[in-house]
Amino acid sequence: MKVVIIGGGIIGLSSAWYLQQSGHEVTVIDKTDMKDNCSYGNAGYVCPSHFVPLATPGIVKQGLKWMLNSQSPFYVQPRLSWSLIDWGLKFMKVATPEHVNKAAIPLRDIAILSKKKYEEWTQLPQFGFAYETKGLLEIFQTQQGADHAHHVMEKAYELGLTDTELLDYNSLQQLEPQTKINAIGAVHFKCDAHLYPNKLMQQLIADLQEKGVQLRGNEEVTGFENEHGDITKVITQKAVYNTDTVVIASGSWSRELAAKLKVKIPLVAGRGYSVTLEDSPYKINHPVVLVEGRVALTPMDGNKIRFGGTMEITSTQTPPKMSRVKGVLQAVEKYFPEFKVPMPSVDKVWYGYRPCSADGLPYIGRTKQWKNVIMATGHSMLGLSLGAGTGKLVSEIVNEQKYSMDIAPFNPDRFS
Ligand SMILES: Cc1cc2nc3c(=O)[nH]c(=O)nc-3n(C[C@H](O)[C@H](O)[C@H](O)COP(=O)(O)OP(=O)(O)OC[C@H]3O[C@@H](n4cnc5c(N)ncnc54)[C@H](O)[C@@H]3O)c2cc1C
Repeated sequence: MKVVIIGGGIIGLSSAWYLQQSGHEVTVIDKTDMKDNCSYGNAGYVCPSHFVPLATPGIVKQGLKWMLNSQSPFYVQPRLSWSLIDWGLKFMKVATPEHVNKAAIPLRDIAILSKKKYEEWTQLPQFGFAYETKGLLEIFQTQQGADHAHHVMEKAYELGLTDTELLDYNSLQQLEPQTKINAIGAVHFKCDAHLYPNKLMQQLIADLQEKGVQLRGNEEVTGFENEHGDITKVITQKAVYNTDTVVIASGSWSRELAAKLKVKIPLVAGRGYSVTLEDSPYKINHPVVLVEGRVALTPMDGNKIRFGGTMEITSTQTPPKMSRVKGVLQAVEKYFPEFKVPMPSVDKVWYGYRPCSADGLPYIGRTKQWKNVIMATGHSMLGLSLGAGTGKLVSEIVNEQKYSMDIAPFNPDRFS
């Protein structure tokens, strides 16, 4: 079967990998050269512990407070956009404790599936993406942060993620003896892993090319043709591709592309920034989340360290805001006083757009509009973590096989 995948991020490439393995003739089309999308500069967490979706009751209240702070970790840029208003209304509606509870199970299951798939890849000779299973530390400085961490830990136990330990200050400092930490404690989620996304992406591209998958870079998909309820052609500004199946894995641009197919998915872009020190003078042993600062620190691929954060709901056309990067680096220094990372020049700052669904769950599955269109997008803060698992599920949907897990919660039509 001919399958055209639109989008060469981690979701599109993982889907291509499993579809090629099942014997399909796969083409991946991307409007860029696929060398620097959101799937590169992220924090590299593969994290079953992240079962709390973005849409929580707390974030709505906190977000309103943060609106006036140019360095805050969460920000919605006010704009007259119907899609933003629609997304915002749906986001606020689902930001309930009931939703958080309900979303936790599918998020846990797809993360565990995905982690297993990454571990299978690490056994293959063509892959070596600095995958490590040291877990993740969520470090807190305040009693409120500690209460939140305790709550998440209790929930983790309920969900069977029992390889989770509460650390007091001394135990935390023992795990990280190379630098001083300003914190009162941490939770160690030992179920988590991390990897170097840049290597993973480059190796996936090389492996797909080696296996004969057609990778079409610098071609933007502008339209489709259909016949009898099936999409039969995918049109770019350079060519027309005949197809039997289409996978929409276009990240933050998926809403516009889906709209061309008359499929409605509430989705906005959540910009985040990262700074990577290639040969870091600052050392930590574990990936870290700063609970109150909402910043991620990842030691990766030898001596590299990456600092990342900020969720800026904005248009993909808005220029990057260096004040947000400053906010990230200042948060790092508050917890790690020896980490005096100088403010980099604009060209040394990476930013990417997380495809944020309205309820924090991805859209994975067929739509009722078309028989042969599969959505694979909306992974928000978790696209890397859920990448390989999503690719596996997409291949099972195309092949009409038994799914590795229940995909009903990811139904792309759930808001329509
Ligand atoms: C600072 C930061 C830290 C993060 N940390 C983590 C983390 O630790 N763990 C984690 O799991 N996630 C993390 N994320 C989120 C993760 O990076 C994203 O969820 C993930 O990369 C999304 O992958 P994707 O394939 O859906 O989208 P993308 O990687 O954006 O790929 C989509 C592709 O589609 C292409 N495209 C769009 N429209 C068209 C069109 N019309 N025609 C052709 N091509 C098109 C784009 O050019 C793009 O290359 C982080 C994100 C940020 C910003």
